[in-house]
Amino acid sequence: MRKLGLIALATLKPGDNRFELEGQPRDFGCEVQEVKENPSFEKLLGTVVVAVIITRSGQRFLVRGRVRFRARLYCAICGMEYERDFDEEMFAEFTSLERNRGGYARELEPDEMDRVPIDADFIDLSALVRDTIHLAIPIAPCCRPDCQGICPGCGVNLNQGVCRCPKG
Ligand SMILES: [Zn+2]
Ligand SMILES: [Zn+2]
Repeated sequence: MRKLGLIALATLKPGDNRFELEGQPRDFGCEVQEVKENPSFEKLLGTVVVAVIITRSGQRFLVRGRVRFRARLYCAICGMEYERDFDEEMFAEFTSLERNRGGYARELEPDEMDRVPIDADFIDLSALVRDTIHLAIPIAPCCRPDCQGICPGCGVNLNQGVCRCPKG
């Protein structure tokens, strides 16, 4: 299976390395099972576009980027379906740990605790992309800031029509 977001460490030069990735959610490793379990992924329309800069400094890799995608959502207030574009920031720091030497494992230094260790020859951006998408989609989306909702009396969508309830 094709997997986008897998960056070989050997290809990263010191300083800034720019990447533009575009693909379907599953190209970023969203398995069918995961799509079923995570409703966010079912709502995605079209492709996911990732623009990222990986700054290499020795064995440290600072990842800064943006994830752009479009999603279909249901307004939590009026229930109408609507579509929205997202443009989300993505940030992480990876550090390449030295492999075991002399038969003992090296412990993480205190200043390494907040970094994602990579004990491989690749940085995998796909989990970062998936987390960014999942966190971006609101639990209670709103079709617009001033959504008027549905009148509980006559059932009219107050964004589109006028309340027909008898006055007084
Ligand atoms: Zn609404
Ligand atoms: Zn009404």
